[in-house]
Amino acid sequence: MIHRPLAYVGTGVAIPVAALIVLAALAGLLRGADAALALASVGFVALAIMQARAMRQLAEWARQPPGTSPPQGEGLWGSLFAELGDRVQRDHEVKEKLAAELGRFQQAAQAMPDGVLYLADDDGIEWLNVMAEQHFGLDRRRDLRTPLVHLVRQPEFVHYLQARQYAEPLVMQSLQRRERTLQVQVIPFAGNRRMVLSRDISQLERLENVRRDFVANVSHEMRTPLTVVGGFLETLIDGIDDFSREDVLHFLRLASEQSTRMQRLIEELLTLSALETGAPAPLEECVEVAELVRDVGRETELLSAGRHEVRLVLEGGGTLLGSRKELLSAFSNLASNAVRYTPAGGHIEIGWRTDAEGGEYWVRDDGIGIDPVHIPRLTERFYRVDRGRSRETGGTGLGLAIVKHVVTRHQGELRIDSAPGRGSRFALRFPPVRIRPD
Ligand code: ADP
Repeated sequence: MIHRPLAYVGTGVAIPVAALIVLAALAGLLRGADAALALASVGFVALAIMQARAMRQLAEWARQPPGTSPPQGEGLWGSLFAELGDRVQRDHEVKEKLAAELGRFQQAAQAMPDGVLYLADDDGIEWLNVMAEQHFGLDRRRDLRTPLVHLVRQPEFVHYLQARQYAEPLVMQSLQRRERTLQVQVIPFAGNRRMVLSRDISQLERLENVRRDFVANVSHEMRTPLTVVGGFLETLIDGIDDFSREDVLHFLRLASEQSTRMQRLIEELLTLSALETGAPAPLEECVEVAELVRDVGRETELLSAGRHEVRLVLEGGGTLLGSRKELLSAFSNLASNAVRYTPAGGHIEIGWRTDAEGGEYWVRDDGIGIDPVHIPRLTERFYRVDRGRSRETGGTGLGLAIVKHVVTRHQGELRIDSAPGRGSRFALRFPPVRIRPD
């Protein structure tokens, strides 16, 4: 930036004018007053032309886009052009800097996962990000400057916005997508302006519903056996003298079965809760898979008590990196399901194999099978195809939820193939990083 002292300004015009006046004076001395006047007039006309030219240059420059260099000029005009050029340039730079900063703020607000919307003094929409457009079904090109309450007309929202009590957020259903729940918070700022923040809390709501269902399910599952046990005890207390020893033994056995059921339910709940919320399990044990599968096979034979033909298939041994306790729980859950959902005389195959894609543990049966509509929901807690049958066979509805958690913790996946009346195949696939060959 160049600064020129004002004292210096004007020498470029003053010198020719002074020269003309001196010349005019000389002409006056030598040739008389008329000549002097004529010469002075010529000088002033020339000066006026110079001024007009400079002014035209200034006007032309003013019409150019900001940042264009000022015209070159002589003397006073030169200094003025340079000074104005510097100022315009400085203003232009400041404006560009401010615009860039504003742009960055807007980009940040755009990138926010929440909706952000600014309301002007007259309640018109001043600015909004994409999320706010989605949450309230707005369109920035169409809706800017329109009062928000003309566009979002849900009574609870209009009341919240107009009541000006913003200490608590408003929870409302989105009109565009009914299944979407929004939490809206208004923040007043700069006098009468307001910022409207909106957040999609549908996922949180769903989790809260799952939690509520879970508590209801657990209570229900516990109440059934407790009612049965309570009923037996009351019957015994009321008529202890009327029952034979065999009757009493029968009641006690039934009560004992129910208490075992409750115990299993609590154990599975604890396992599930440890998997979901507990500290990370020691996932790096080297588990001998063939040995584990043989253990599960023996357990399955015991559970089946000769009602099924149980077969083991081992195609490759190796070790699986993971938690033995968790893997045993997942493997035996699948095997015990096969026993429970396969009528007597059926076949159960328990196998393990390794290949280039990792390792696979599977349990195949030719039992009752599952309708494909149920398959995507089988791993939900307490989901059962046939509640009565699950109960009869001592099921808790938590087995496959546990299996799913265990396999996910081992970076594997659960695959289910089944057809009603034809049997099922449940497979756990583990990635190569978890498999160590023999
Ligand atoms: P449950 O304790 O009820 O067996 P699970 O979570 O282990 O709970 O299984 C969920 C549901 O999946 C069962 O209630 C049953 O309807 C179905 N299921 C699981 N394994 C099999 C299988 N091998 N054959 C048929 N149905 C099965």
